[in-house]
Amino acid sequence: MRARDDLGAATADRAAVAALGAGRLVILPTETVYGLAADASNPVAVAAIFEAKGRPRFNPLIAHVADAVEAERIGVFDDRARALAAAFWPGPLTLVVPVRDRDRVCDLARAGLDSVAIRVPGHRRARAVIAAFGGPVVAPSANRSGRPSPTTYADAVEETGGAAAAAIDGGDCAVGVESTVVSVLNGRVSLLRPGAVTRAEIEARVGALDTGGEGHRSPGRLALHYAPDAPVRIAATAARGGEILLGFGPGSGDPRWSLSPTGDLREAAANLFRMLREADREHPAGIAVAPVPDHGLGEAINDRLRRAAGFVG
Ligand code: AMP
Ligand code: MG
Repeated sequence: MRARDDLGAATADRAAVAALGAGRLVILPTETVYGLAADASNPVAVAAIFEAKGRPRFNPLIAHVADAVEAERIGVFDDRARALAAAFWPGPLTLVVPVRDRDRVCDLARAGLDSVAIRVPGHRRARAVIAAFGGPVVAPSANRSGRPSPTTYADAVEETGGAAAAAIDGGDCAVGVESTVVSVLNGRVSLLRPGAVTRAEIEARVGALDTGGEGHRSPGRLALHYAPDAPVRIAATAARGGEILLGFGPGSGDPRWSLSPTGDLREAAANLFRMLREADREHPAGIAVAPVPDHGLGEAINDRLRRAAGFVG
């Protein structure tokens, strides 16, 4: 059985590499969320991603590479960018740096910017497929734009599987929220999007982050995002009829619908998008989510929840 599983996986991975080479789209598992992947150097393939997701073209994509050597081929890394790459790659950190090679990551993928967003994913099969393909792969979350990110194979296929020529089942995503996006530009290090690597973990490597409002220069941070169809609000109880409470911590609602019964932020992140989707299917009247502390991974969870509820810009 094990040998058969391995064989099936190898066949799926070869089909994915061939699809990328042919300019087609691929459902690609990563440790953060499932991605919809394409050859970053191919504008036709990249255009198909924007089309499949219904994503506005001003929202640039992240180039996923197999290792730091390939990263330095496409972007310009100073000492602090190198320190962050060394500390967190492979893993859920995206670095935005000046672009070095405008062809390996095409203009459309960068939304015409002079910078490029790069990450080496932690998921072993994602890295193997990218390495076998031999170049950077853009892989935004596999959801249609504005909807919750898929963190299971079934959810990814349901969202954009129809647009993909190949799909890899890599199991449930271990992290469950998107990568942290940090820019290292003009000697300044700024947090553009909170994510799986925490602010404190980044500051421990490169000192205090710049607070000059650089975050607002990240395109594509839309007010209403990650949102199910059911209305979402942050509240300690489910007040309205038919509304479900997603709890957090001991004594907070039905354990079946708890992001983490013990109040563990890692568990809550891993459950967040899957549970929002399940709640959406079963409780279309509305979803209340119990308050989650704002430290550590909680910053990323609250960022996604505020956007799912539609109240930040
Ligand atoms: P995702 O939607 O997960 O694919 O993440 C892509 C996000 O990374 C975008 O929404 C931007 O906020 C950010 N990003 C990507 N490229 C750049 C860039 N060149 N400059 C600033 N932010 C970027
Ligand atoms: Mg996304």
